[in-house]
Amino acid sequence: MFSLKFLDEISNLYQCHCSLCQKATGSSSCSSFVVGIDGIKWISGRKNITSFTKENGFQSDFCKTCGSPVTNKMSIGEYIWVPAGLLEGNAGISIVAQIHLNSKASWEVELENQMTYLDSPSNIEQFILSLKKSKK
Ligand SMILES: [Zn+2]
Repeated sequence: MFSLKFLDEISNLYQCHCSLCQKATGSSSCSSFVVGIDGIKWISGRKNITSFTKENGFQSDFCKTCGSPVTNKMSIGEYIWVPAGLLEGNAGISIVAQIHLNSKASWEVELENQMTYLDSPSNIEQFILSLKKSKK
């Protein structure tokens, strides 16, 4: 486990759909924001953070004990990349930009064409069935 504090104002978020973010998150995209190099302060658990770097320089840092991706220094400029999942509660922000759409997963489609749920589907069997039925 770890905890950190944000010293900079938190901006709105962007979602990156590049193939590296797909692999790093195991999903379609990564929601994140950027702070200045002095924009965060580690409170605890920094020793639990480990890192892996690909040959092309793509770096992914994560907590050894809870598996969460954490902040890392960006390769361009004096900035720190922050995954949005680190935020607690309502930060008063939203996703306002989508990047690397040229690389988005073939199975990713616009939200208006999808079944949406405010919470978990109430009936899991029905939900699984509807996933199968809506296949094109
Ligand atoms: Zn990306």
